Amino acid sequence: MAAPAELQAALDLLRGLRERHGIDVVTTAQAARSAPAQAAALALRHLLPADLIWHIEGHEVLARLASGDVLVLGLDPSPRVNGRAVREGRLRRATIDEGSARAVFELAAALWSNPKFLPEIEPIGTLMPPPSDALAVPRGMEFVSAMARSDRPLPKVVDEVPTPGWLAPGLLGLAGPRRQAFERTVWNALRFLLLHELGHVCLGHLELGARKQRYRMIEELRIRDGAAPPKAGGLTDEARRALEIEADGFAAARLFGEAHERDASTGLQAGMLSATASALLGAALVPIIFHAMQVFSETPEPLSTHPPLWFRADAMMRAAMPGAGTGALLDAPLRHWAANDALQRPLAAAGHTHPLLGQWLGPVIDGGLDGPARRVLAEARFARDGLLRGRLRVQQQVVPSRGP
Ligand SMILES: [Zn+2]
Repeated sequence: MAAPAELQAALDLLRGLRERHGIDVVTTAQAARSAPAQAAALALRHLLPADLIWHIEGHEVLARLASGDVLVLGLDPSPRVNGRAVREGRLRRATIDEGSARAVFELAAALWSNPKFLPEIEPIGTLMPPPSDALAVPRGMEFVSAMARSDRPLPKVVDEVPTPGWLAPGLLGLAGPRRQAFERTVWNALRFLLLHELGHVCLGHLELGARKQRYRMIEELRIRDGAAPPKAGGLTDEARRALEIEADGFAAARLFGEAHERDASTGLQAGMLSATASALLGAALVPIIFHAMQVFSETPEPLSTHPPLWFRADAMMRAAMPGAGTGALLDAPLRHWAANDALQRPLAAAGHTHPLLGQWLGPVIDGGLDGPARRVLAEARFARDGLLRGRLRVQQQVVPSRGP
C-alpha cells in the first residue's frame, strides 16, 4: 500500500465529488498536514510493522466547497473507534479516528491470515490457523475489546494495547492475490467510513437544527465516551437515525457504484474477489466492529442515534446487488433481496470464523429481513419529513448541483 497510489485514490474520490457536486479540490495532503495529523502518523508507525503503514494516517485532504467553505477529509489522532462530521465556521471536517483505522486493519488481517477464510483466494500455504475458534475475544478484535472495556482516560489506552503478537512480523505470510484482497478490504472499509462522514457534510446534515450555532458536530458513537457528546443541534434520536441512513446511502451509492462499474469493465478474474464483493466485505467490517463494541462493553443499546446494525448491514447487502443502482437509500423503494453466492460467500465465510461474527451476520446473509427493514425505513422517513424543508434549503447552499 504505497502512499502515492492511495493518496491518488483519495484525490480521485474528491474529483468525483467535484463532478457530481461542484466541490473543488484545492490542495493535497502534504500542504495540509497539521500537527495532530502528524501525531497520528507517528502513533500508527509505532502500532504497526513498518510495511503495514497506511497512507491515510496523518494525511488530511482539503477541498473547497462550491459555497466557499472548506472541507477537510482526514484521520484524527484518537484511539477511539469513532468518526465524526464537524462544522465550525466555514470549516467542514469529515474524519475518522485512528482507532477506527486500527480496528479495521486488525480485523481484516485476522480474516485474511486465517487459512479457513476463503481458501480459494491464494496462496494459503504459508498461513497459520488461529489457535482456537472458541476464544472469547476473536483474533483481530483484541484492540476493539480493550477499547470497549476501558474506563480509563482513552488517550493512554492506545499505548497500553500492544499490537497483537500474531500480527507481527510482516504480513503473516500474506502474499499475491490474498495480500491484495486484504489491502482492498482495509481500503474499502476505511473508504466506507470516510464516505459516511462525508455524506453528513455533503447532505447538509450539519446545517440542520439550530442553524445559528457556530459549532456543530455529529459524533457517531456514544460507547464509553465518558460525557455524552453534544447532540447535533438538538435533533431527536429518530431524526438522527434518518440522517444516518442517508449517510450510509451516500457512502453505499459511491462505494458500490464504482465497484459495479469496475466489475463491468474488467470482468471477473478467477481466484480473486470481484470489486463488488470486496467492497461489500469492507463495508460489512464496520457494523461487525460496532457490534463487537456493544458486546464487549456490555452496552446493549448504545446506538440509539443510529439504525440497528443488522439494518445497516442488510442495506449494504441490497446496495451491493447487481443492478442496484445508486438511488438514495432513504427514498428508494426497498429493493428485494436475492441470494447471490458471489456476494454472500465472503460474508458467510467471515461469519464462520467466530460465533461473535456468525450469530449476527447469519440472519443478514439468509435474507428475509424485508419486513423489519421496511419498518425501520418507515420510521426514518417520518422523522426525516419533519426536517425536509430546512434540509433542502441548506443543500442548495452547500451542495449545489453540477458546476458549469
Ligand atoms: Zn453517521
